[in-house]
Amino acid sequence: MTAHDLDLFVLGAGSGGVRAARVAASLGARVAICEERYLGGTCVNAGCIPKKLFVYGAELGHGIDDARAYGWRVEAPRFDWQTLRDHKDREIARLNSVYARLLDEAGVGRVEGHGRLIDAHTVEVKGERFSAKHVLIATGSWPTKPDIPGAELGVTSNEMFHLDALPGRAIVVGGGYIAVEFASILRGLGVDTTLCYRRDRLLRGFDTDVRDAITAALGSGGITLALERDLRALEVTSGALRLHVEPGPALDADLVLFATGRAPLIEGLGLDAAGVRTNARGEIAVDAHLRTSAPSVYAVGDVIGRYQLTPVAIAEGMHVAHALFGDRAGPMRYDTVPTAVFGTPAVATVGLTEAEARARAGREGGAVRVYRSRFRPLKHTLTGRETQTMMKLVVDDASDRVLGCHIVGEHAAEILQGFAVAIHAGATKAQLDETVGIHPTAAEELVTMRTPVT
Ligand code: NDP
Repeated sequence: MTAHDLDLFVLGAGSGGVRAARVAASLGARVAICEERYLGGTCVNAGCIPKKLFVYGAELGHGIDDARAYGWRVEAPRFDWQTLRDHKDREIARLNSVYARLLDEAGVGRVEGHGRLIDAHTVEVKGERFSAKHVLIATGSWPTKPDIPGAELGVTSNEMFHLDALPGRAIVVGGGYIAVEFASILRGLGVDTTLCYRRDRLLRGFDTDVRDAITAALGSGGITLALERDLRALEVTSGALRLHVEPGPALDADLVLFATGRAPLIEGLGLDAAGVRTNARGEIAVDAHLRTSAPSVYAVGDVIGRYQLTPVAIAEGMHVAHALFGDRAGPMRYDTVPTAVFGTPAVATVGLTEAEARARAGREGGAVRVYRSRFRPLKHTLTGRETQTMMKLVVDDASDRVLGCHIVGEHAAEILQGFAVAIHAGATKAQLDETVGIHPTAAEELVTMRTPVT
């Protein structure tokens, strides 16, 4: 057997790579990690964390409006974008240094620069070569723009975190996570916002009731919806941007954000030299244990294209570290991954949609019960804000197991996390019914829905 300098070399110090490196080192492995851009990856620098800070900023604006109904006298509040942006930058810089410290304290060697595989055991960074028994690719993904003339005039989520000034009018293109989140943020910060999407309802892939609820809520919350519009071209006209769409008139704005998906970051990684194969979508192909076509090379996170979610990348990173240097070897479990879209209102979901559950029941000769509730949150009985919360449970009729839980409304993500534990553990509807609620909350609705809608 060849002697290697290291047990594990990790390409990419984002959520998955850092966790894998730290856990592997804690299990006694000799580990190094390389990063060419920023410690903490997309989540820390251009994703979850700064996005959530912006969401808080936007929601505080709504909170100031609501406060009036509760007796607060609030005189003409003004929002200052530079303050929010710069305070966010300060926090991200702090997190970058926390990541560096965590890696150093774990004994992980840090290498700055772009890593390229020379073979299945060798990585080159800025001319220096590292040989490792195992290699982990955790390079993440990057936002893509649609293939239309003038696409270069629009920005992606990356640039949204560093704008010099907020636009007066913005168009957000797309109907997925980033589109819903940034349209909500921009609207909350006072920008005249249009959401332009090619289908009739947002969040394709989510439960139909979720899609109906979030589409209606964004519309009634002051975002102009331009649905069922295909993109044709983007151009500059007399100082503004004009997005040509089909059908309908062109849309004008000062900023166009393309939230049209993210592609795996595999350029210049030397995958061919190492014998690492990708699929038709350019994602690194892995087996149930996250091993690529090169037996010594593993891959986790956005670059494998399963779920582009930080907690999944972290779980996958830990899985690889434990499989290689610990004593855990079972396959990754993905069937109860909860997820949230931090729009205003928020969406949170775990398990099967009603359509998925019905399709499965159809194949297996089973049946499904669905429980659904729509209500106005108590807080807004005073504010008069026209907002509804939607909660839904999808239940397997024969076993009574809860297959899916879907929420649209304030605090949806905070509420769902605990229910995700229950569903992961195999909770039945009867067990939810036996659980005493907390009153008055929105969450109690999930343990008090007694009559199925179907
Ligand atoms: P999504 O895949 O969620 O959505 C992309 C959207 O762009 C879809 O609505 C898609 O339409 C539309 N689209 C794609 N190509 C075109 C095109 N050529 N013309 C018009 N519309 C187009 O990607 P996002 O960019 O929103 O986010 C990337 C990923 O990052 C998410 O999938 C998610 O996994 C992750 N993420 C997670 C967050 C969280 O956990 N809160 C927050 C932000 C991102 P269609 O539906 O028709 O395909």
